[in-house]
Amino acid sequence: AALSRIAPLLKSAAPGTTVTTAGWVRTRRDSKQGFSFVELNDGSCMANLQLVIDSGVPGYADVIKHVTTGSSLRVSGELKESPGANQRVELHVQSLELLGEADADKYPLQKKRHSFEFLREIAHLRPRTNTFGAIARVRNCVCRAIHDFFQQRDFLHVQTPLITTSDCEGAGEMFTVTTLLDPDREAKGFKPGEIDYSHDFFGKKASLTVSGQLEGEIFACAVGPIYTFGPTFRAENSNTTRHLAEFWMIEPEAPFYELVDDMQLAEDFIKFVIRACLEHCAEDMQFFNDRIDNTVLSTMQNILDHQFKRVSYTEAVALLEKSGKTWEYPVAWGINLQAEHERWLTEDHFKQPIIVYDYPRTLKPFYMYCNDDGKTVRAMDVLVPRVGEIIGGSQREHRLDVLESRLAESGLDPAAYWWYLDLRRYGSVPHSGFGLGLERMILLLTGMQNIRDVIPFPRTPKNAEF
Ligand code: ATP
Ligand code: MG
Ligand code: MG
Ligand code: MG
Repeated sequence: AALSRIAPLLKSAAPGTTVTTAGWVRTRRDSKQGFSFVELNDGSCMANLQLVIDSGVPGYADVIKHVTTGSSLRVSGELKESPGANQRVELHVQSLELLGEADADKYPLQKKRHSFEFLREIAHLRPRTNTFGAIARVRNCVCRAIHDFFQQRDFLHVQTPLITTSDCEGAGEMFTVTTLLDPDREAKGFKPGEIDYSHDFFGKKASLTVSGQLEGEIFACAVGPIYTFGPTFRAENSNTTRHLAEFWMIEPEAPFYELVDDMQLAEDFIKFVIRACLEHCAEDMQFFNDRIDNTVLSTMQNILDHQFKRVSYTEAVALLEKSGKTWEYPVAWGINLQAEHERWLTEDHFKQPIIVYDYPRTLKPFYMYCNDDGKTVRAMDVLVPRVGEIIGGSQREHRLDVLESRLAESGLDPAAYWWYLDLRRYGSVPHSGFGLGLERMILLLTGMQNIRDVIPFPRTPKNAEF
């Protein structure tokens, strides 16, 4: 028989139905009356399906002692209304098959809650816990909502390359790509095994992408609004709770958009994703509120209920200076806002997400549109309580002469960006876009503290194994 998933069984299957299902055992309890009660989970939802196994079931005596926490089962039987208050139905098992044992002496039992740190070291167990199961489902929901949002607005999904020669952010955080297979390497004077990091992508220097933006612009200014959604790599050697070496970024890019349009798109997008999770992952969102951070649901509602406040960088700095607080990192016009400043603005002062715009040009990369004041660029960052920056975006510089001088000013070689400059030579148009870090969005939604815990396989200076 086809396997049923547990979520729909618990939600809507009629008592009396005969079903086959499978999953992993959370607990087993044997009653004196010759029954065993097993809580079975298959990851489709937080709740377990209660199995009632009569000692008369064929093979019971041989099998039941191996039905321990962590073992896997396939079972068939009849759904019956459950007398317990916790579930609508339970499964009265008619046949059961033990698929895989889990040594009860060695298995890291789940009686006490494990720390997230500990779980990061046990690859197989981590996604079988309630918290990580819920994160996986919410993450899935967010990914679907991302496509829904942009597809509904006729943005094309464009795939930008992971291997590239441009350092878009100019922050020197790129991982270099190397190949030891260059057949000419020895002719070029390298010893076997010696790596020339500056020329090792078949004789050129290439890196893993830090952003698909520049390539995204090329398509946006031809086919209309686009979005990219893929992995991004940054050699962040800082071990913070907000930075990964590999993370996922969503980057829309739209021609004819100016900064105000970009800000509105960002706000609509975040609200759309939150609504999708509240609707499709209600049970998981409630779990995060109950077990991880009891402000999750009120924060989500607060975000949905208000327009994000637009605050210029200059106003933000003035507010910080007037705050009367003593900052660890002194505030003055021209500084990069630090976590303490972002938190005060969003958590203490505005008490909601804000969009800070028009940053000093010295703080931002070369591609942002220069304002007439000669001092600021049309950048915008979306800052949210607890997490800080989740979006960085801008209107792009589309005037050839200004862009060329900005490249030079940034110490970059304009010749290497000929393909990017061509976009300004032939039919240039105003355009804008932003990047949202998927994992930062998940931190906001779940109340989790550490970015390592909201990605299936975190890549950090300390871990690349699993
Ligand atoms: P931060 O100031 O936090 O280092 P950033 O300004 O360097 O971020 P951007 O270049 O603006 O980041 O990238 C766009 C978005 O990508 C950020 O707003 C953030 O959501 C996300 N992001 C950036 N770096 C990382 C990282 N190392 N790990 C996870 N997400 C990241
Ligand atoms: Mg950074
Ligand atoms: Mg930043
Ligand atoms: Mg940024």
